[in-house]
Amino acid sequence: MSLDLRDRIRDVPDFPHPGIVFKDLMPLVADPEYFRDTIRQLADWCRPRKPDLILGAEARGFIFGGALAYALDAGFIAARKPGKLPRETVEATYALEYGTDSLQVHRDAVAPGARVVVLDDVLATGGTAHAKVELVEELGGIVAGVVFVIELTFLGGRERLAGYDVHSLIQY
Ligand code: AMP
Repeated sequence: MSLDLRDRIRDVPDFPHPGIVFKDLMPLVADPEYFRDTIRQLADWCRPRKPDLILGAEARGFIFGGALAYALDAGFIAARKPGKLPRETVEATYALEYGTDSLQVHRDAVAPGARVVVLDDVLATGGTAHAKVELVEELGGIVAGVVFVIELTFLGGRERLAGYDVHSLIQY
């Protein structure tokens, strides 16, 4: 039986800006039983989609993405803030629920035709995930799925990702 992951997700009102209810997943990753169950649920959804690679962005995407890639015998590739990756990159800019940002991946991170699952902790407006999807496709990869621990359904992020195979473990 699955645990109720909500029991280890804390709401932090007005962080990082007034009006935002921040979903804090740190208690979830700090609890071995809940962390393992989260990765198991993510892996169960990903496995039939046969990913070669998991793409996650810093910082929480690294925590879940690294563990998920290991569980699936897949590789992990990093999407990072500009200036962090040492070699030639491709970049996508996107609007956040709060502000705008850019992500870069190494130009040689995705072999043509590689199957990539795009992962993030929270689906809010979908801007971040959409940017990662764009990066995968620009590099010639196939988006095998887009998966989240949490989906904030009232922000309509799933519509930004129309046409892709999208899944979340918990919806608010
Ligand atoms: P978005 O691009 O709007 O879908 O935002 C998704 C990204 O912003 C995720 O990587 C989250 O880490 C972060 N994020 C946005 N809204 C929240 C929230 N309410 N609680 C926690 N993280 C959030």
